[in-house]
Amino acid sequence: MPTFDALLRELRGTTAELDAAALAHERQNGSSSALPPALAPALPPALIDVREADEHAQGAIPGAVHIPRGFLELRIERAVPDRAAPVVIYCASGIRSLFAQRTLAELGYTNVRSLAGGFTGWKRAGLPWEQPRALRPDQETRYSRHTLIPEIGVAGQLKLLSAKVLCIGAGGLGSPSSMYLAAAGVGTIGVVDDDVVDASNLQRQILHSTERLGTPKVESAEQTIRGLNPDVKVEKHRTRLDSTNALELMRGYGVIIDGADNFATRYLVNDAALRLGVPVVHASIFRFEGQITVFPGGGSPCYRCLYPQPPPAEEAPSCAEAGVLGVLPGIMGVLQATEAIKLLLGLGEPLAGRLIVYDALKTRFRELKLRRDPRCPTCGDGVDRAAIPLIDYEQFCAGSRH
Ligand SMILES: [Zn+2]
Repeated sequence: MPTFDALLRELRGTTAELDAAALAHERQNGSSSALPPALAPALPPALIDVREADEHAQGAIPGAVHIPRGFLELRIERAVPDRAAPVVIYCASGIRSLFAQRTLAELGYTNVRSLAGGFTGWKRAGLPWEQPRALRPDQETRYSRHTLIPEIGVAGQLKLLSAKVLCIGAGGLGSPSSMYLAAAGVGTIGVVDDDVVDASNLQRQILHSTERLGTPKVESAEQTIRGLNPDVKVEKHRTRLDSTNALELMRGYGVIIDGADNFATRYLVNDAALRLGVPVVHASIFRFEGQITVFPGGGSPCYRCLYPQPPPAEEAPSCAEAGVLGVLPGIMGVLQATEAIKLLLGLGEPLAGRLIVYDALKTRFRELKLRRDPRCPTCGDGVDRAAIPLIDYEQFCAGSRH
């Protein structure tokens, strides 16, 4: 059996190392690759911090993925699925990372290097580092069922806590979506609604309650959301979205949940979101049927690919007359919240380019493909999104929100 010193000497002789300055340079400019430059994208190396949790909490290189040495074999494939991708490992001083490097070589990783001098050397070189954010003890408990999911983890929960989602409407769709987003720990939830709580809302709008009849819906929404989760900041916008305030209201949010009950608002949300480059999770409900899709932040297909122009006012269903099964917005709003969380965390396949139609009577979900219309006035070929005009269509369904 070799001694530790002999083993270390052997590892030093056989494994590739780079120093802090070289790593900093590659992270800015991409790494060298075995492939000719024309074939190989200059990817910056994936950076893996193999120190223990308490060491990591004291400070780390920005952008590093933390996988304690003992979990390396278990978690590396999720962090770096491509075994040919450039990887740099670091520990505190550059010794544990040599052993970690050998482990990765045994797992088939072919382009792994160790940071000579480790995090200590990085700091000594005056390179930037950060104190990783962590959950408070009460948050660790509150969000434990999230952090247990490897695809979310503490990093995903922290992302949710710093995320901002805007709910257009605190009605049937806005109720379940904002409540589940709040419970999930989305840190800032904006609510746009100019209405007050009415008795006819309570059959489905579970944000509100009987004792809050006559209260502005944004106030009632804040009370419910803060009661659910004091981590959440509620930004109240007691106004109706129009062409003069849409951009200002929607700016700064990572995802927009469209729970509007009228075409005028939906067009405005679509057009303003395309100008801002923000994804919209759109849903609508009618009696026993709900629809949901996602209009991606990059555009295409968008709401106008689906409906290029609003229907004439006399053909649009009147909300007050149409009616809706009370639980239906619950289902559609929860689907909206799910899509929003997926978008915020980059999880799974977003519902972009697909329209889900839910038939409550048959208990059936149908999926329709949405195609981008190259002649779409807001996302078609050659459209300058920055110049999309914001239009106030006639509010032909001016009743209360769904
Ligand atoms: Zn379009």
